[in-house]
Amino acid sequence: MINWAANDVCQNDHKLQWVKKHISKCTQCGPVDTMSRYGCVQCNIYYCVKCRQPPVMGEFCGGGHELKYVPNLKYHSCDVCRASIAGGAYRCQECDYDVCEKCWIVKED
Ligand SMILES: [Zn+2]
Ligand SMILES: [Zn+2]
Ligand SMILES: [Zn+2]
Ligand SMILES: [Zn+2]
Repeated sequence: MINWAANDVCQNDHKLQWVKKHISKCTQCGPVDTMSRYGCVQCNIYYCVKCRQPPVMGEFCGGGHELKYVPNLKYHSCDVCRASIAGGAYRCQECDYDVCEKCWIVKED
């Protein structure tokens, strides 16, 4: 298990978990229509990716799955910057989690 959320807790001190959930309300910024990757299941609070960016642990998604490069990933959007993907991107199929090349490069330095 990757312990990536060790320092990030909800208001009740629960460790935030990697989630895959469509949300209509972000705990921090209000009404949204997006996927949440980060929240507290016990308290039923979830954050949009702008407020709590899902951390990328090397080449793995927050769920511990390896991200694989897909050369043609049109009609998807990057889960880190929300930009739509024009070419290739790194993807976890299981979590439907995509990281565009731009975000991937930033994270490497
Ligand atoms: Zn938010
Ligand atoms: Zn909680
Ligand atoms: Zn991106
Ligand atoms: Zn995954």
